Amino acid sequence: MADIVSSLQVALEIAKQLRTLNEKLKDAEIKTLLADLQSELADAKVEAAGLKEQIAALIQKNTELASKLESRSREEPEMMNGGYKFGGEGPYCARCYETSGKKIRLPRSVGMHAHFGQWTCPVCQNHS
Ligand SMILES: [Zn+2]
Repeated sequence: MADIVSSLQVALEIAKQLRTLNEKLKDAEIKTLLADLQSELADAKVEAAGLKEQIAALIQKNTELASKLESRSREEPEMMNGGYKFGGEGPYCARCYETSGKKIRLPRSVGMHAHFGQWTCPVCQNHS
């Protein structure tokens, strides 16, 4: 893709040269049209420069998100007493991780919950 900002810069230069040439001809209509053309090109150049900046920012954001996603999918859970552990940390609720991708730390079951499993998820209430 040709650089739109430099293309517009060249177009502006051409319009300027045409205007200089036209000074000798003294044609008022051509003069007006050339002035309009120059002004439109200048606006387009400013706009193109803004779009270039936006695209660059979006590309950077996209790269960040892609690498975040990649590192997330590389993080494989290991089993730990009915829950999952990640990098030695845990246990986390396996059900919440599998259904919504959320890592919910499992506290030890207390009271009547202890009859159903040693951990009780505070989010999905699953016992494990
Ligand atoms: Zn859960």
